[in-house]
Amino acid sequence: MRFHASWVFQCMRWSYFKYTIPEKERFDPLLIKAGKEAEEIAYRYLSKRYKVKRCKNREIHFKGFSLAGRGDFIAMGSDSHLVEVKSSKWLRDKPELRWLAQLNIYLFLENFESGILLEVIGKSAIRTMKIRFNPELLRKSLLYFSSLKQYIVREEIPKARHSYRCKYCSYRHVCAIR
Ligand code: SF4
Repeated sequence: MRFHASWVFQCMRWSYFKYTIPEKERFDPLLIKAGKEAEEIAYRYLSKRYKVKRCKNREIHFKGFSLAGRGDFIAMGSDSHLVEVKSSKWLRDKPELRWLAQLNIYLFLENFESGILLEVIGKSAIRTMKIRFNPELLRKSLLYFSSLKQYIVREEIPKARHSYRCKYCSYRHVCAIR
C-alpha cells in the first residue's frame, strides 16, 4: 500500500476514501487555485533571501506500506531549509499539528534536521515557523498510517470525525451517504 505524507492526521475516514475510491474525490477549484497562489507568494518571499529550488518526490518503505511525498521548496543560503507552504483563510493561534507532522515526514524523507512551515494567510500575509525534526512525532505519524492500513485490510470504514473541515471535505458527498 502506498500512502501520501500529506494525509497524516487527516480525518481517518477521509484517508480511507482517498485510498479506496480516489476516482470519487471532488476537488474544489477555488482551494486548488488558492494553494497555487500561496506557493507563488511563498516563492517570491523566499527568493528575496535564498536560492530556491523545488523538492523532489521521495518514497520510503515501511513494514506493510510505503509513504510518498515531497516538500514544496528547498531554500539555500548560509544554511538550507526544507519549506512546506500552507494556505489559510485566517490566522490560527498556532499551525495545525497535521501540517507540522507532514513537514516532519518530509524532513525525514530528505534527511534534513530542520525546516520551515510557511503559512500564507489570505492574499499576502506570511507567518513562518522553524521546526526541528521530531522523532516522536514521526512515530505517531507512522502509527496513524498503520491504523489506516488496518482499516483498509479489514474493509472497515473509519468513524466520521465531524469538524469544521467537513464543510470543505472532498469526500463529503460520499461520507454523507454512509
Ligand atoms: S465529511 Fe468530515 S467526517 Fe466525512 S470524511 Fe470528510 S472530514 Fe471526514
